Amino acid sequence: MKKHVITKTFGKFVLDDNKLKKFMNIFDFYDYKKIKNEHKPLNEKIAKSIAKAMKTWAMKNGATHFSHWFLPLTGKTAEKQTSFIEVCKSGKIIEEFNEKSLIKGETDASSFPNGGERLTFEARGYTVWDYTSPAFIKEDFSKNRTLYIPTAFCSYTGTALDEKTPLLRSIESLNGASLKMLKLLGYKKIKYVNCNVGGEQEYFLIDKDKFLKRTDLKIVGRTLFGDKPIKSQEITSHYYGMIDELTSCFMNDVDNKLWEMGIMAKIQHNEVAPKQHELVPIFTPANIASDQNQLIMEVLREVAKKHNYVALFGEKPFKHINGSGKHINWSLSTNTGINLFDFSMPDKRLYLVFFTAMICSVCDYYNLIRLSSASRENDLRLGGNEAPPTIISMFVGNYVESMLNSFSYANSKHKLSVLDTGVKLLPKTIKDFCDRNRTSPFAFTGNKFEFRMVGSSQTIAWPCTCLCAAMANTLNNFVTELEKTPLTTENLLTFISKKLNTHKKIVFNGNSYDPQWQKEAENRGLKNFKTTPDCFKIFDDKKVVELFEKTNVLNKCELNLRKTTFIKTYLQNVLIEGKTMFEMTHKNIIPALFDCINNLKQTKNKTSLELYKKFEKTLNYLFDYNKKLSAELNVLEDAIKNLNLTVSVNKTLDLMNKIRTAFDEIESYFPNNLKPFPNYNDILFE
Ligand code: ADP
Ligand code: MG
Repeated sequence: MKKHVITKTFGKFVLDDNKLKKFMNIFDFYDYKKIKNEHKPLNEKIAKSIAKAMKTWAMKNGATHFSHWFLPLTGKTAEKQTSFIEVCKSGKIIEEFNEKSLIKGETDASSFPNGGERLTFEARGYTVWDYTSPAFIKEDFSKNRTLYIPTAFCSYTGTALDEKTPLLRSIESLNGASLKMLKLLGYKKIKYVNCNVGGEQEYFLIDKDKFLKRTDLKIVGRTLFGDKPIKSQEITSHYYGMIDELTSCFMNDVDNKLWEMGIMAKIQHNEVAPKQHELVPIFTPANIASDQNQLIMEVLREVAKKHNYVALFGEKPFKHINGSGKHINWSLSTNTGINLFDFSMPDKRLYLVFFTAMICSVCDYYNLIRLSSASRENDLRLGGNEAPPTIISMFVGNYVESMLNSFSYANSKHKLSVLDTGVKLLPKTIKDFCDRNRTSPFAFTGNKFEFRMVGSSQTIAWPCTCLCAAMANTLNNFVTELEKTPLTTENLLTFISKKLNTHKKIVFNGNSYDPQWQKEAENRGLKNFKTTPDCFKIFDDKKVVELFEKTNVLNKCELNLRKTTFIKTYLQNVLIEGKTMFEMTHKNIIPALFDCINNLKQTKNKTSLELYKKFEKTLNYLFDYNKKLSAELNVLEDAIKNLNLTVSVNKTLDLMNKIRTAFDEIESYFPNNLKPFPNYNDILFE
């Protein structure tokens, strides 16, 4: 399909307000719009009217089923498809969907991660319609269509069991705090403050046949073995390189599907590593961005299958090669269209207050922000000079930093300079407000922040929840403090200056990859949570617990539930990796080694003897390590079963490293016909 038809098919499968207007009673529609603009709850009358419109629209589009769609703590979406079929009293078959089915669904909450909150004997859970994220239709390859309704998921007791509920709460909290602050600054007519998110999604696209030959890719989603390929990314030819035709066909199919679902897919390009790409939609309010990001990953995954590819979302599918992230571009804007981080605003008080609040939020809750990006696989990516280090800091750029340091700049206009290319005939172009710093975990990029640490497979929801909660709390505190004195410009500037002074330790404009930064950060009192297990304790940090309680985002029980689920997921991931490694060692590597050794026995020259010895040595190591690994895995499995989440995985990880190193060192010596599985050269360059 050609791209010039975007507007013809864009949003074909999303029930946006234009379609609602067409299918709803017009009076109900205007009531709905009013309520929506004020961010208030919908009443049952409007819900009834929307349900009717939804049914008509879905059926007109050939949908036979509907599904409440939610995001449990698995990081993946969940659905229960229900057909529209009903039987009348007369026995006649009809198609039915009403406001009851729209508003509430019921599930077995004990079968989803719930940190022990829901046991099988008290299992009820509910999915509740989130009208702020539009319903949509998904079409499979046989053109079957299903109506999806975004929902929040909680237990019978109202405990949040998903990613959406806390996100919505944090957005509400941030909206409330921002409005209070704006009111204080004299902006009484602003009705709503949106938190906007543009999530850049990186992924690998590899051939399905190679994928199917590797148990690690199939089970874990990343390679557990693999020597450095002959060529990797040293000559940086892949980044922004020409998109080959097969990949282009795939990307166009993806875009078309996303556009139909109302997702504004905007940018696609090759990323740094071979077979690595990025897809970027235009930013939207955080809740929608979060739902859409899940859909983007699903569409990439499904379309890849059709093209005989597999899309990998893991943070580090290949050792020695850049991994994938999900950059979260983050800003705040009012319903009147003001971007609160825009330094060109005439009323400088706005950006000074909101920008300072952002610095204070990241500084006060840097541990939580670090936690929000932690996962087993992201541990392998962060701090490896391909992604930000594990120490949180903020890049604000030299101009902003000097302006914040000395308020003499605050009233003068920043002069944007012209880019000098040295070629006279090229057009004159204005440079950006500040340079880019790709080493910074949290970078200001002109009128928004870019949180660069988040892993490619993670949800947008959790990091956004943490950011919104932190920002809401800071703004609430600011308001309380500022209300104590008359709000003159002088008082405001003194207040901001004081805040910046006490929080400037988080600002670092230099190279975050520089080892010196680690020392400097330590001197500044910024803790370095190097791995996910280092982050476990952050859940118990008093300040963090209080933050979530004060902002009504998560109560103690909900936070604890998240902690248990988080730790269990981490341990389970290690267990699965270990088991996969054990299996591959036994079923792929050791038999291949035996074959090689048998072959070498027959060729009795000096080189073959050396190789024979090498292989035999590795064989012995592998037997030994694998035996030890198996014992460690049994301990880990028992610990998880008995909910002993304090078990250490250090020994397991150490053994896994040893096994990998033992194999990787000899991988290049395997003859092509005896390789245990496709190697990096095969996967990344064929
Ligand atoms: P980069 O050049 O850093 O790779 P991209 O152009 O790939 O950035 O992506 C930038 C993302 O930031 C897009 O999703 C874009 O819509 C989003 N974005 C732009 N302005 C804002 C804003 N004010 N708030 C939030 N996100 C924004
Ligand atoms: Mg990008």
